[in-house]
Amino acid sequence: MAEHESLEFGKADFVLLDNVSMEEFMGNLKLRFEKGRIYTYIGEVVVSVNPYRAMNIYSRDTVEQYKGRELYERPPHLFAIADAAYKAMKRRNKDTCIVISGESGAGKTEASKYIMQYIAAITNPNQRAEVERVKNMLLKSNCVLEAFGNAKTNRNDNSSRFGKYMDINFDFKGDPIGGHINNYLLEKSRVIFQQEGERSFHSFYQSGINDSADFKAVADAMKVIGFTVDEIQTVYKILATILHLGNLTFGVDGDVTLIENTKLVSVIKDLLSTKEENVQKAMLYRTVATGRDVIEKQHTTQEASYGRDALAKAMYERLFCWIVGRINDIIEVKNYDARVHGKNTVIGVLDIYGFEIFQNNSFEQFCINYCNEKLQQLFIQLVLKQEQEEYQREGIPWKHIDYFNNQIIVDLVEQQHKGIFSVLDEACMNVGKVTDEVFLQGLNVKLAKHAHFTSRKLSPTDKSLEFDRDFRIRHYAGDVAYSVVGFIDKNKDTLFQDFKRLLYNSSNPVLKGMWPEGKLRITEVTKRPLTAATIFKNSMISLVENLASKEPYYVRCIKPNDVKSPLLFEPERCRHQVEYLGLLENVRVRRAGFAYRQIYQRFLQRYKMISEFTWPNHDLPSDKDAVKKLLQGCKFDHDVAYGKTKVFIRTPRTLFSLEEQRSEM
Ligand code: ATP
Ligand code: MG
Repeated sequence: MAEHESLEFGKADFVLLDNVSMEEFMGNLKLRFEKGRIYTYIGEVVVSVNPYRAMNIYSRDTVEQYKGRELYERPPHLFAIADAAYKAMKRRNKDTCIVISGESGAGKTEASKYIMQYIAAITNPNQRAEVERVKNMLLKSNCVLEAFGNAKTNRNDNSSRFGKYMDINFDFKGDPIGGHINNYLLEKSRVIFQQEGERSFHSFYQSGINDSADFKAVADAMKVIGFTVDEIQTVYKILATILHLGNLTFGVDGDVTLIENTKLVSVIKDLLSTKEENVQKAMLYRTVATGRDVIEKQHTTQEASYGRDALAKAMYERLFCWIVGRINDIIEVKNYDARVHGKNTVIGVLDIYGFEIFQNNSFEQFCINYCNEKLQQLFIQLVLKQEQEEYQREGIPWKHIDYFNNQIIVDLVEQQHKGIFSVLDEACMNVGKVTDEVFLQGLNVKLAKHAHFTSRKLSPTDKSLEFDRDFRIRHYAGDVAYSVVGFIDKNKDTLFQDFKRLLYNSSNPVLKGMWPEGKLRITEVTKRPLTAATIFKNSMISLVENLASKEPYYVRCIKPNDVKSPLLFEPERCRHQVEYLGLLENVRVRRAGFAYRQIYQRFLQRYKMISEFTWPNHDLPSDKDAVKKLLQGCKFDHDVAYGKTKVFIRTPRTLFSLEEQRSEM
């Protein structure tokens, strides 16, 4: 028997469980983890458990074992999924995507890197120089993005603090010719505040503080990608500015607000290539238009501190987006004429933050969890849709399976006028009182009857929620209480125009180029900028539309414990993840249809030795007839459906018997 069929390592596919119960599912997951089998299938979905140790399963040799093979031929592996996505793209001209989900530390980013590595390894057999260049860029871009977008958190030493979707474009030969990266909601508040035990983004520690080996790797990667010397220098100047801003303090002298440590201002003006007085002024005054007049209004110390933090956050976010943009300029497909070269196809890889429940949940967690609701909705639709379509295509009747549909929670957040984002935007636009409490009051009015929403006002006996501060959402993955403190500020995400102008007026062209809107005078700034929630909502809607237009493959990552141990499988922690990822339902859906399906010819290849009619070759009119004859002979006919191109086997037991008969031959 091939290794993946040996019971010693548990069932390689959860659809092969004797009973679909949580107990059996967890038993199998644990057994496989303990035996070092970190991947298990649910049909074409890979369930992955973070091993927290180096595994010898990603070598060139392993790549060769998976290359061009069908999913079931080898033990479960990310490479098999990457290969399936690649084959679908190449053979059927389909755009495909690989969606990687799971909570922080579950192994998403590592998985996405192995997938990229696999694709790089199996493509460009002819060693075309241009393709090699593109592959190198794609791989190097990861290193740069991680330096600027990842940080050490209490959950993960290398936690991605942004969402990433990367398209890889292929030519008609199936070789990578370019790519494009979309980034989502960087957790920029980390620049000014980190929880105890956490750090800011890696990049800050690579500028001479420590981590200097990483610094070199990142600087090299930036050079290889094609960042100019001036650009790289500007990047480090911005990082230094942000660090210095963190030390800038304000005081008062009479009724004048002033900067206490003026020496810093001189350092900052050099870093920003501007004049000291410009920095002073932007820090301490705000230009406001009142009717036809334009006046300079002095900040209070509080306002000045707020402005300083907003500047630090905005500069970092802008820097990050600029880096992504520069990478995109360089990796985008060039000189490709579809009329000459045929359709250019795409594999997308999504590595985005998983569901988060912290001690304190704020606007960021709210957005992240909404994102996960959207992705879960997509999973529901696509996994069902895919099954349905396959049965339809093959002419086989389909029985519907019910499970919790989270659309109601997606609506709760994103619906026009009634959803939480709308209520938030309205609260931000209030004339007069604009506070977080007003926002919560709005929610209490609009959502009083919603089954997935509550607050202390709506359920007064619930002491776990604070009056005027908390609301709770019943997410598909569990209940989360959010504190409204900071929602308004984070949603408005204001950066005074004075700062934009300061940066735009820099004599450093790279920095200036990052802040084109600084060109506007205060009287010209008429449009109210989109709120953070609206931008995020729109980006999620278009992300989901994009994914839905492609053939999806899923990797569902599970974090086995909270202490980064390679040995510990914490049953409760894992069980919770299995629950909210909807894996049991996934198995049920898969089984309600047919547990196993295979193209006739492939099926024969594997089992033809079982029957005298098919061994060594058959003389029936078609492979389909031969498979029928074979299965009738084994008396499995009742458990089987014959589609147009594939044979479908309902219960795993049948497959087992076939396997047994095969190994007895
Ligand atoms: P976040 O949402 O915080 O970004 P993540 O799901 O992307 O989390 P990773 O950064 O991929 O998590 O993984 C966390 C750590 O777990 C890695 O730094 C690595 O030490 C370990 N790890 C994950 N997957 C593997 C693997 N396949 N083999 C070995 N170690 C792994
Ligand atoms: Mg990550």
